[in-house]
Amino acid sequence: MLSIKDLTVDVDGQPILKGLNLEVKAGEVHAIMGPNGSGKSTLAHVLSGREGYEVTGGEIKYEGQDLLDLEVEERARKGLFLAMQYPVELPGVNNMVFLREALNAIRAERGEPALDAVHFMKLMQEKLKIVAMKPDLLKRSVNAGFSGGEKKRNEILQMAVLEPKLAILDETDSGLDIDALRVVADGVNALRSPERGMILVTHYQRLLDYIEPDFVHVLANGRIIRSGDKSLALELEEKGYNWVLEEAAA
Ligand code: ADP
Ligand code: MG
Ligand code: MG
Repeated sequence: MLSIKDLTVDVDGQPILKGLNLEVKAGEVHAIMGPNGSGKSTLAHVLSGREGYEVTGGEIKYEGQDLLDLEVEERARKGLFLAMQYPVELPGVNNMVFLREALNAIRAERGEPALDAVHFMKLMQEKLKIVAMKPDLLKRSVNAGFSGGEKKRNEILQMAVLEPKLAILDETDSGLDIDALRVVADGVNALRSPERGMILVTHYQRLLDYIEPDFVHVLANGRIIRSGDKSLALELEEKGYNWVLEEAAA
């Protein structure tokens, strides 16, 4: 589904990703952990096609296609979803209209007819339950003035509605209370499927108490320096990152 080879990325002329390799197959949940400033969000942003990230080498294949050739909207239409560490606020853009348009763009790409308002409302009612979100938030502008927890719920709602093939979640390092954490975990677990790949960027092992990843990777200094199963996350929680950095340096 996703194959990243020797990826190098500059931000403001500074090399941030320095030869990153990652393979994600359908059905797999990958957790990416690593010290602050190691390039985790940079990776998420490059995958989403955000501006300001200059790919200087390597390749990213998504379902066999060169991802970097695809426009941002094309990536979304083709089933790529990114939940950002800091979700953007879109004042003046109605949350429900935004979601419906995003969903219908994906449906059009798949050759499916657009959902009308009635069917969309039915779908929303079903999806709102997954995130235990107040329906009022649908009537407001996207994320505008939402609390941290509400933004998080809204992002997971977007993911649940859009049913992406590949979801990338860049988790906040702080500010998420235990309820918001459960929302993320429940959303991810509800969407886990043999057809779907998921990349979970997470700073703490805490989230992985609720989500059992198939693979755990340590990203440090712009590279994945160690990969393992969920036991690696427990080891990191217990011993920190230094031992991995030292072993990688040796
Ligand atoms: P992480 O998500 O692992 O904490 P980031 O990907 O956010 O790390 O950042 C990696 C490095 O890139 C950091 O040293 C950060 O300061 C730098 N960086 C990220 N974005 C920018 C930017 N817009 N301009 C300059 N440096 C940046
Ligand atoms: Mg960070
Ligand atoms: Mg980050």
